[in-house]
Amino acid sequence: MNDYGHVQKQDPEVFAALEGEEQREAEGLELIPSENYVSKAVREANGSVFTNKYSEGYPGKRYYGGQTFTDQVETLAIDRAKKLFNCGYANVQTLGGANANIAMYFALLEPGDTVLGMDLSHGGHLTHGHPVTYLTKIFNFVRYKMKDPNTGEIDYDEMREVAKKEKPKIVLAGYSAYPRELNYEKFVEIAQEVGAYAVMDIAHIAGLIAGKAVKSPFDAGFDVMTSTTHKTLRGPRGGLILTRESEEIAKKIDKMVFPGLQGGPHMNNIAAKAVAFGEALSPSFALYAAQILKNAKAMEKIFLASSIRLLTGGTSNHLLLADVFGSLGIGGQEAETLLDRVGITLNKNSIADDTRKPMDPSGIRFGTPAITTRKFGEQECARVAELMVDAMKNKGDDTKLSAIREEIRTLCKKFPVPESFV
Ligand SMILES: *Cc1c(COP(=O)(O)O)cnc(C)c1O
Repeated sequence: MNDYGHVQKQDPEVFAALEGEEQREAEGLELIPSENYVSKAVREANGSVFTNKYSEGYPGKRYYGGQTFTDQVETLAIDRAKKLFNCGYANVQTLGGANANIAMYFALLEPGDTVLGMDLSHGGHLTHGHPVTYLTKIFNFVRYKMKDPNTGEIDYDEMREVAKKEKPKIVLAGYSAYPRELNYEKFVEIAQEVGAYAVMDIAHIAGLIAGKAVKSPFDAGFDVMTSTTHKTLRGPRGGLILTRESEEIAKKIDKMVFPGLQGGPHMNNIAAKAVAFGEALSPSFALYAAQILKNAKAMEKIFLASSIRLLTGGTSNHLLLADVFGSLGIGGQEAETLLDRVGITLNKNSIADDTRKPMDPSGIRFGTPAITTRKFGEQECARVAELMVDAMKNKGDDTKLSAIREEIRTLCKKFPVPESFV
């Protein structure tokens, strides 16, 4: 029996898509570093009756009646988020990471103000000022970069110079494709020198911070952190905004999320966030977060031994960025398609100062959050890395590729996606 009995009876077309995705996720390896598998408990809460309810406002201050249980569940989500990230305030209503960033910018800035963020080709996110976003029509984005893409160290001297010249209101840390930790003290120091807010977008590493596998920017004095809830944090698809201690900032953020930008919160999603935060507070989550890092190191070892260039020389978090064009002569798009064929899902990615186009860049980006949820250890991760290298080095050899596909299918059967983590 499947989980979708009612859909199956009522709507065979949607059921076919649900079944297809179930099978795809069961039989393939998910190496996209921004993806994960949630527990059944998170899915139950996400699919719950709370989807029926309008609850504009915040706990205790709503615009509609009937809020006994919405208040209960949103308060749980807020309190757990505060505990998880050791901070004073949490807004759990934003619908995603991009929305969280938009609300944060609008709460803290006036149109025309400047944000100092990470260069996009050095790992920053679209919402940190990519020209394709509408944000760049409203705010002025200026950049800092890595001093050397082979070590990953940020050029903090240049960052200070740009900050002094451009007078940003926000010094923004955070990334989607950067495999190292940042010097958070330096960010706070520079932000304070120019009177800016220090903000970190922890979308990718929220689970690593919650599980104490990496440092928390709040410990260095960051003012605000924005996040997704569905990446390493292993919750439902959604956003989160955390304020360390300033009630004034927290109030601005709440007002901007609602009524500034959003309407009724998705209370089913907030219930699922509460469940996921509960899981992240359990001792087993810290072990999970630590294992993500160990597994990434195991993959690093194989790639380096195979003489494949890794940006920043390796990894200190959950993700790796490999220059497959420079090392193997295979473009990022071709590598993505080839690995998809053998059952490995990852994404092509630009590397620092890439000479190739974004739709067919030089690199691939991959990571260990999802396979670690599947209980892969270092040994399995090393094997996956070997299979990846093997596939890329034997791209024309159909027999070889079929054998790799078979081995991956077997590995997936041996490590089914668990239903519960606590
Ligand atoms: C994924 C990501 C986002 C956007 O999250 P969505 O939920 O897709 O809107 C924002 N910032 C960073 C750094 C991210 O990695």
